[in-house]
Amino acid sequence: MTTTDAAPASTTSGGPGLPQERRLVTEIPGPLSQEKLARKKEHVADGVGTMLPVFVQAAGGGVIVDVDGNSLIDLGSGIAVTSVGNAAPSVVRRAQEQLAAFTHTCFMITPYDGYVDVCATLAEVTPGDHPKKSALFNSGAEAVENAVKIARVATGRDAVAVFDHAYHGRTNLTMAMTSKNMPYKDGFGPFAGEVYRAPMSYPLRDGLSGEQAAARAIDVLDKQVGAGNLACVAIEPIQGEGGFVVPAPGFLPAVAEWCTANGVLFLADEIQTGFCRTGDWFASDHEGVVPDLITTAKGIAGGLPLAAVTGRAEIMDAVHVGGLGGTYGGNPVACAAALGALEEIRTHDLTGRARAIGARMDSHLQALAESHPVIAEVRGRGAMMAIELCTPGSITPDAARAAAVSAYCHSQGVVTLTCGTWGNVFRFLPPLSISDDLLDEAFGVVAEGFAVTA
Ligand SMILES: *Cc1c(COP(=O)(O)O)cnc(C)c1O
Repeated sequence: MTTTDAAPASTTSGGPGLPQERRLVTEIPGPLSQEKLARKKEHVADGVGTMLPVFVQAAGGGVIVDVDGNSLIDLGSGIAVTSVGNAAPSVVRRAQEQLAAFTHTCFMITPYDGYVDVCATLAEVTPGDHPKKSALFNSGAEAVENAVKIARVATGRDAVAVFDHAYHGRTNLTMAMTSKNMPYKDGFGPFAGEVYRAPMSYPLRDGLSGEQAAARAIDVLDKQVGAGNLACVAIEPIQGEGGFVVPAPGFLPAVAEWCTANGVLFLADEIQTGFCRTGDWFASDHEGVVPDLITTAKGIAGGLPLAAVTGRAEIMDAVHVGGLGGTYGGNPVACAAALGALEEIRTHDLTGRARAIGARMDSHLQALAESHPVIAEVRGRGAMMAIELCTPGSITPDAARAAAVSAYCHSQGVVTLTCGTWGNVFRFLPPLSISDDLLDEAFGVVAEGFAVTA
């Protein structure tokens, strides 16, 4: 880290050209951020919270620079969104060209190539080599809603199965599908009907093998819902907000197999896990699971709002013409950004980079776990790793420690995120454009955080 008295010259251009360093020139938050926070308080609804009290000026590579000139190491990627890096060159170039050509026509009125190019690419990179089609939307929640609409029409059935600890969004249907009450659901009901919850495979907490956990979930679906009523089973192959829960090997294939045998569509919500985050294009690839429907968003477009439902062509085409769409879905600038993000992924072999980052994070976290028994488990895959904190020797969640270590990291210029049903999971989602040096420095700060809060 460098510490200087003078704030660097004001900059508004980010991307990988930003100095790749942790640099603290004021307290966090600095005076300018504090002024802006007061202004936020005056004009922005309190319901929209913020994790870190700094206002951003530029970001790129592995850093976020705030208005006071502090340079923070980013271990969050805006929640797994800027996987290709913030203001990544191909994203910026293609989006700028598109902005200058036209900003919107509405694909449902007059179509354009970018939308079709994104759908063609999704068919290529998503699991399975069967004929696939896609529809584009603005947010992850909107994609999940539409996947359910498609599954219902395609099967003629109503029920939707989801899992404990699931997160699928904040709209009415997706709130029903999301598991955690606070802050996502509290007071926001009544919720959509025909959503049923099954137990998730959670090896730390249930000790079951994948086959055993699948049998437990399938029993609930079979006996309490009835396979014949189910349109789809929606599942995150590695849970995101719910705590980076990695199901035991064999769980996903067994659930997918049961779905296929019973005419239930297997819907993989890869909104957080997709686009190389886990070291494969999609987390489903890891166990060779081929979903009938897959939802993507977050990492798809380098930060611009875009989401997709991709599925077997005959399932996607079950919906009547005009049944899917929206004013902005597949906006041309967002599509151009997505094509730019894909270019970055391919040019820089970001699947390989995600694996290397994963291995590096794993060794830091394993070493940390050896000296801090509060770390009950290190888990995750690729550049999506987490530690779950529990009272030593138990599985009693320790959210207070997670909050304390997180606060320390923030004060020292490292952006970390927590998650989990009990808020006791520390998750690490660095941009795949981060350098090894920055990564090592950030985990040094995390280690200090554990030492000083012990
Ligand atoms: C973030 C997320 C969503 C919701 O996406 P939004 O773009 O915030 O609506 C849905 N599912 C998963 C797995 C997510 O991580």
